[in-house]
Amino acid sequence: MKKKVLNVLYLCILQLQNHLEEFKSESSKEKKLRERAEQYTRELEQEIEGIKRKNLGRASNPANIELTQEVSRLKSQLEKTKVEKEEKVSRVTSKYQSEISDLKFSLSEHEHKDKELRKEILTLKDKLKNNVSEDEVASRIQRLKLQLEHSERQHALIGDENERLKDEISSQENALRAINKEKMQLEQEMRDIYDKRESVAQWEAQISEIIKWVSDEKDARGYLQALATKMTEELENLKVMGVSDDSNRQRWRNRRSQRLDKMELLTLQSSLQSEIQAKQQIADELSKLKSSVVSFEKKNHEQDTIIEKLSKEVEELRKEKETLLEKQDIADSSGNTGERSREQTLMSFIKGQFSLLNDSDNESAVEDDSMSEDGLSHGDSRTNSRSDLHMGAPPDTPDVTHQSSPIIQPEHVYDQPWGASKTGSMPQPKTHKFVMKNFYTPSKCNLCTSLMVGIQRQGTTCSECAYCCHVHCMDKAPSVCPVPAEQNKRPVGIDINRGIGTAYEGYVRVPRLGGIKKGWIRQFVVVCDFKLFLYDTLPDKNQPTNVVQQVLDMRDEEFSVSAVLPSDVIHANKKDIPCILRVTTSEMNPPGSKYQVLMLAESEQERHRWVGALNELHKLLRKNKLPYKSAFQAQEVYDNSLSLVKSTNSCTILEQNKLLMGTDEGLFVAQLNKDVLIRIGDKNEKKPVYQVELVHDEQLVVYTSGRQHHVKIIHQSVLDGHEGDPVKIPDTKGCSVFCVGFIRQTQNSCLCVAIKRTIQVYDLILTRQRYRKVKDIQVPGHVQFLEIINDRLCVGYPSCFAIYSVQGDAAPMALLNTEDPSLQFLVQIQLDALLAVQVSESEYFLVFNVLGVYVDNSGKRSRTQEMMWPAPPLAFAYYEPYLLCYSENAVFVYNIQTTEWIQTLNLKKV
Ligand SMILES: [Zn+2]
Ligand SMILES: [Zn+2]
Repeated sequence: MKKKVLNVLYLCILQLQNHLEEFKSESSKEKKLRERAEQYTRELEQEIEGIKRKNLGRASNPANIELTQEVSRLKSQLEKTKVEKEEKVSRVTSKYQSEISDLKFSLSEHEHKDKELRKEILTLKDKLKNNVSEDEVASRIQRLKLQLEHSERQHALIGDENERLKDEISSQENALRAINKEKMQLEQEMRDIYDKRESVAQWEAQISEIIKWVSDEKDARGYLQALATKMTEELENLKVMGVSDDSNRQRWRNRRSQRLDKMELLTLQSSLQSEIQAKQQIADELSKLKSSVVSFEKKNHEQDTIIEKLSKEVEELRKEKETLLEKQDIADSSGNTGERSREQTLMSFIKGQFSLLNDSDNESAVEDDSMSEDGLSHGDSRTNSRSDLHMGAPPDTPDVTHQSSPIIQPEHVYDQPWGASKTGSMPQPKTHKFVMKNFYTPSKCNLCTSLMVGIQRQGTTCSECAYCCHVHCMDKAPSVCPVPAEQNKRPVGIDINRGIGTAYEGYVRVPRLGGIKKGWIRQFVVVCDFKLFLYDTLPDKNQPTNVVQQVLDMRDEEFSVSAVLPSDVIHANKKDIPCILRVTTSEMNPPGSKYQVLMLAESEQERHRWVGALNELHKLLRKNKLPYKSAFQAQEVYDNSLSLVKSTNSCTILEQNKLLMGTDEGLFVAQLNKDVLIRIGDKNEKKPVYQVELVHDEQLVVYTSGRQHHVKIIHQSVLDGHEGDPVKIPDTKGCSVFCVGFIRQTQNSCLCVAIKRTIQVYDLILTRQRYRKVKDIQVPGHVQFLEIINDRLCVGYPSCFAIYSVQGDAAPMALLNTEDPSLQFLVQIQLDALLAVQVSESEYFLVFNVLGVYVDNSGKRSRTQEMMWPAPPLAFAYYEPYLLCYSENAVFVYNIQTTEWIQTLNLKKV
């Protein structure tokens, strides 16, 4: 296309050039014509000039004139044509020149286009080349498609395989589960086997013995066989020879006798050997016995010297006594009982000293027996723990050092003449003289073998014979003093029906606070009354204290005891693991979670004994179905990880799942089911709240707060978010304790506020002021407890409780009659009065910081039993009929009606 156009353009240009040539030739012709015409004109002019000059004389010649006229006319005509021609030429040339320029322009344009087209052609050529590679691409796509198909197929195959593998995995999982189950079973079996290993060891010993016998027998048989073969050989020889002649027979006889002699010699030698061995053994034994005899002689000598000393003392004392008697005789001939009692205490002092000695003698004698009995067979592998399940404990051995303590440490004696009052003022030599006693190590009752639980005054002891028992066991104690040995050593242990008694005891180690990583701490464990009591030990004296660190109740539904696997105690020393046992009970939070205590026994054998004894006991407990009256289920409201609330001082139940708490940072309402904690009142005011109580009838909340311990009252609606400022009672500065209660007589709620020795009584009214003062009551001591019981105010102050009238002016009534000799001790030591409970119409239960006592309306003791707290109490609460004793590590729950200790809630240690 473009080429054609170019060709056409060329042709045009050529034509135009031709035209131009033609015009050029024409114009040159015309030029020549004009030149000729100009020549003609010049010739003509010259002719005209000649004529003119000829006709000059003839001037007025008419022909001449005509000629000149014609010449001029021709001239002008010539001029005219000349101009016209020139114009025409110029026009044509310009026209052609413009046309040429146009054409040249179009030519250049076309040339330009041509270049472009060439470029286009080049690009198109490239494209063409590319088109050629497209074919390759198509083929590649084809190939890829094939590959895709292939991979898809493979994918499908893999999918199938996956399915198959999944199935296989699930089957494997099932198998694994089965294996796990099996493993668990095997572990259980392992544990059982562990437990049985002890007996296996015995068996093994027996088996080894048997093997030894068997091997001995084998040796003997071998010897016999050898002998028999020799004999038969000889017999054969003899047979061959013997028939020939008599002399041979004679020889044979000789030989035989020789042989017999030899055999005899052999037997004699062997018996000699055994005799020598036996002698050796006897010599060893003898040397051992000699050494022991030497040590005993030493001891004996020491004791002799002591006895000498003491007898000297006795002599001196006798002398003193004689002098005193003489003096007495001189001073007053009539009998003086005071002196006599002093004499008795002196006598008892001496007796006490002797009983101490006698006891130690007995002890060493017992040791002698055991030494001679089994000293050779299995050495002294005994440890200080022992099972009382089967054997009777010598009842007075653990308290040897303390038996004389009431006399040595007279500050702990509360002159308690119960025994004396029963038997009358005339002391007969054959009755006990029981005195109350403080035990500073875990001690057991000689009668029921149970622990004497408590902090002070845990039991009584006879000052004459040192027989120790509970206050409530005193009546059942053998009445003869001193208690005959056969009655003292009767088989004790646990009373299966009631679960009372000590079953097992010994030392173990428990992890320190923070786990096994921190190490172990030694504790003394007593298994008594189906509970495990863990006592701290004094590090220097290696003796347990009387403060219970933990109580683990075997009646707990979650109770179990077992050995541990290495995975259970990852921080434990590897060699310790076989010695560790684990005791599990239920823990408070969340309900159903478990509380575990690890114990490290002193050896693997010991651990076996512990696990065995505890499991046996637990079985017994189950078999006898001794009831566990779980009264409470505890739930943790929050722990110390919640920094919002620091320490909680007081708490009261608003409604189900809703608590009102008085904390160091103010009042809070805790909604347990929503897990929400709401601050009540001004957020910027963080005054501590000490005590908080609800007044249901008036819908009021009463609390003490601030540094001044003022009593404040708010309406209960404030707790739900309503506006309302607390009403402060200005007179109540320094309030130590307060109580609220409903007085039926006046149909009014009343508020009693204790400030030191004064109690302010207010009526709570429905006016804006909310309170109205009624009166002041003065009490003899600093008020420690305050409660409205049956329209009357029960007040506790050190060592006493009393009942005051709220409305009238009736005289106060003491709930502790100091004329009752059994209660006098309460006045002699200052005790904190913490809680009083009305048990029935005519009985009250008074709670002090070391014990609880039952009294009647007149303040006299109504029950011999005293309630003892295993660990120092921090607070008490009463929820009929349960008394809750809060200590550092546990909450002890008692039934006040039956005096039973029914539940122990172990607290999480922080
Ligand atoms: Zn006695
Ligand atoms: Zn007892």
